[in-house]
Amino acid sequence: MTLAIENALLGGERVAVRCEDGKIAAIGAEVVPQPGDETIDAGGAHLVPPLVNGHTHAAMTLFRGSGGDLPLMPWLEEKIWPVEAKLSDEDVYWGARLACAEMLRGGTTRFWDMYWHPEATARAVTDAGIRATIGAPLFDLNGSPEKLRESAHRSLEQLAQFGPRIAPALAPHAIYTVSEESLRWIGELSAERDLPVQIHLSETEKEVQECIAEHGARPAFYLDRVGVLSERTILAHGVWLDPDELALVAERGATVVANPVANMKLAVGGVFPHHAARTAGVPVGLGTDGAGSNDSLDLLSDLKTFALVQKHAAADPTAIDAGEAWAVATGARAPRLGATPLEPGAPADFLLLRPDAPELGIGDLTADLVYAASGAVVDTAVVAGRVLMRGGEVPELDEVVARAAEQARRLGL
Ligand SMILES: [Zn+2]
Repeated sequence: MTLAIENALLGGERVAVRCEDGKIAAIGAEVVPQPGDETIDAGGAHLVPPLVNGHTHAAMTLFRGSGGDLPLMPWLEEKIWPVEAKLSDEDVYWGARLACAEMLRGGTTRFWDMYWHPEATARAVTDAGIRATIGAPLFDLNGSPEKLRESAHRSLEQLAQFGPRIAPALAPHAIYTVSEESLRWIGELSAERDLPVQIHLSETEKEVQECIAEHGARPAFYLDRVGVLSERTILAHGVWLDPDELALVAERGATVVANPVANMKLAVGGVFPHHAARTAGVPVGLGTDGAGSNDSLDLLSDLKTFALVQKHAAADPTAIDAGEAWAVATGARAPRLGATPLEPGAPADFLLLRPDAPELGIGDLTADLVYAASGAVVDTAVVAGRVLMRGGEVPELDEVVARAAEQARRLGL
């Protein structure tokens, strides 16, 4: 199957892009559609790379609007964990389908997920046509290391059955919910099988104080001591990482994914130190976190919040510029997250923006995308050379919304 997009704008130039076997075969002003290509006239729309959501819990769309405005631990213990204990495959499938539809609509074509019934999320991602790196959340706070290992092995086996758009990961929930013994085991398994590890780290100040009290070290140093901090590690949050921890994270090559909206909604009281992290050489990405704590999955809208809160916290409008913020959201500042550059040989994943979007008509496109746009400016989304959305319409959206709402009602949400 071949696809050609003509009459698109890239860096102010009219270009065409041809896709073959899921990859970009050619891109440029001189490229023309070939006989047999499915051809789309972009009508002068801007061609941009898609966004990467570096941290979420997709099926938590089911929990949207029922967070109760609580702090992190009471929210988890009273609102989330009791309902999660009752989740079925169907709940997770429809919750994740809704998340995929929302992400696609907002220009996100790849996400990093940590959630129960990971095979149901993988099925949803496969049916939606997008990409994800998925891990079962691993806990042994009130369980046993043996059960944690069983759960990790079972999910890895299940996830291996899906195609190339699904990548498996290990996902220990956090240093305060997984034992030292299990963290060491996860670090070894990750090294042995070259598996990414996603973990929440340094989200609240309480987590830092407890880590120091219990382990005599700040979270990043503790994680390093137990063998989990490597170039395969994706740290969600990193709000309280201090300069020594940032230097260590950079040295190990681990990625930090900032989740500014979830942090502000749960009022963690701090801001991920982006400027210090980038100066230290830490790869950085952007995530929404789950819809339970955001409640939106519109990464483009979160991108504005990310940039603004950086400027505000530093009392310096030059603390981050639009180009840097955009690079973070597309995964270009964190090679492990799976950015897709617009160049021959790269996966054929890209977006066309609405040519008539009022927010994009005047001024610098990147600045407009960061400060003025929301996901509503995305017109067309292509993943692996397949057109998944055209004219801002996601196929089957009505059914997906209705089925997800039905599952949420079943859970009493
Ligand atoms: Zn999270």
